[in-house]
Order: sequence, then C-alpha cells, then structure tokens
Amino acid sequence: MSAEIIDGKKIAQSMREQLKNRIAQLNGVKPGLAVVLIGDNQASKTYVSMKQKACEALDIYSKLVKLPASATESELLDIIQELNNDSSIHGILVQLPLPDHINETSVIEAIHPSKDVDGFHPINIGRLQTGGEAFYPCTPNGIMKMLEHHEIDPAGKHAVVVGRSNIVGKPMGQLLLGKSATVTYCHSKTADLKAHTRQADILIAAAGIRNLITADHIKEGAVVIDVGMNRDDEGKLCGDVDYSQCSQKASAITPVPGGVGPMTITMLLFNTVESAERFSR
Ligand code: NAD
Repeated sequence: MSAEIIDGKKIAQSMREQLKNRIAQLNGVKPGLAVVLIGDNQASKTYVSMKQKACEALDIYSKLVKLPASATESELLDIIQELNNDSSIHGILVQLPLPDHINETSVIEAIHPSKDVDGFHPINIGRLQTGGEAFYPCTPNGIMKMLEHHEIDPAGKHAVVVGRSNIVGKPMGQLLLGKSATVTYCHSKTADLKAHTRQADILIAAAGIRNLITADHIKEGAVVIDVGMNRDDEGKLCGDVDYSQCSQKASAITPVPGGVGPMTITMLLFNTVESAERFSR
C-alpha cells in the first residue's frame, strides 16, 4: 500500500487564497505584522525574510524592527510596548532564539496576548487548554488544519506525539486532545519509543532527529505527520521519519519538504488576519 500524500504546499496555498478574501472584507483595515529580529543569526534572517515575503503576497503590512545582538532586554521590552500600542500592528513576533543576555520568558510575556500571533504567551497557552479566544501556536495548529483538510478526525483515535517542546509537542497534544483524541506524549526520556509509536493511529514526529521513525515504529495504516527539519548527508532538508519506508505502510503521510513547513508560515498569516478581524469588530 502506498500512502496518501498530505501536501502542505497545496493546502497552504488554498488557505492563503481564503485569507485574501477575508482581508478584502476588512473594510480597508490592513492587517499588520511586526517582526522583531535581534542579532545576525543566519537562520533567523532567512525565516524573517520568508515571513515578510509571505505578508507581501497577501498585502499584509509587515514591519521589520532590527536590533543589534548587543541590544539590551530593556530596549527590546520598550519596543514591544510601542508595538503593543501601535494600532497599525495586529500581530507581534519576536524571532527566536534570543541572545543569551535576554530573558525569553520576559520578552514573550511582554507581548500583549491579543497580538501574540505566535501563541506563546502564557495566556494563550492557558486558553488553549481551557477554551476561549486565543491564538494557537502555528506549527501544531497548521497540522490540525492539514488533518481537517484530509477529513482525518482525531476523535477516538490514539495520537502519539514524539516531542514535548513548548512550541510544537505540548500544544500539539493539547490540540489533539481538544478534538477528542487519546493522547500519548513521548520524549527523550521515554523508555521504549517503539512500543508507544506502534500504537498510534496518528503519529506526530517532532524530535528533530533524522530517521528516528522507521517502518518498524508505525502500525499499518497510521497517519504519519513529520515535523522534523533536519539535514541529510548531502545537506538536503529531511524530517524525522524515514519517508521511503513509512510511506509504504502509512495510510497518509507528510513529506519533508512540502509538508508541515509551508503550513507554519500560513498559520502566522492566519493568526494575523484573525487578529485584525478581532480588532476591527
Ligand atoms: P526541541 O529540540 O525543542 O524539542 C525536541 C523534543 O524531542 C524534546 O521534547 C525531546 O524530549 C524530544 N526528543 C529528543 N530526542 C528524542 C528521542 N530519541 N525520542 C523521543 N523524543 C525525543 O525541538 P522543537 O522546537 O520542538 O522542534 C522539533 C523539530 O521540529 C525540529 O527538527 C525543528 O526544526 C522542527 N520544527 C519544524 C517546524 C516546521 O514548520 N516544519 C516548526 C518548528 C519546529
């Protein structure tokens, strides 16, 4: 059996088309996203430029605030405060990681929850668990949209999440639980990974380890979502899942590249448009 391919690029494209329509209905309000970039990290610069291009394509106003690596925490907090008060800005994103001398928690908590389009503020994380108007972290929420698009209903399914980070693993499990899946978390201290992953109807691999998940780790017909972004020996992008093996056994699978990745930025745009809608209500 060959798995159905969950094409993130295609789903992202159709979501971006829908967002254009939502923007057109905003009665002249232009959604605005502020991205704060500190220092010279090459990967961060690349991500920021991808986010800016994605904004331009949808006619979302994007404001880039660039600070040197030597910027102080208090300078950064002042900028966040200004952006919190700027009515042309509906979403604020501080590109992580931050230089060591800046406290990440203080920075995340300084962003007003109503503009926290990354969904990392404790208020949004709390609301993810208890319900209420919130922003959900982009990567796991993008995965939920992919499942929805393929009419894969998590209700009653056993979902196994490999990874427990605050930005991917933990919120992923919460979102699946919110859709009535039975959720198991695995992580670096899990004693027998395979024993758990083999029970998964839906397997989310988010450990950041190339080929961690082989055909032996999955059951026949599982839905396999690969969040990993690793490099192979030739420097090519690859995930956590051995795609050539697992695509023969799974019922549906995401490729890397072209799977979860394109959904993440789309969900950032989605949250920014949603924020503009909330502010213009
Ligand atoms: P992280 O390093 O913060 O977390 C990794 C998690 O994997 C940890 O919770 C750890 O306990 C777990 N883990 C490590 N080794 C393990 C093992 N042997 N068995 C089981 N669990 C193990 O990483 P993250 O930020 O959550 O990202 C995970 C991966 O997803 C990375 O490759 C990252 O680049 C990628 N990522 C991709 C996107 C995207 O848009 N495609 C977005 C975010 C992250």
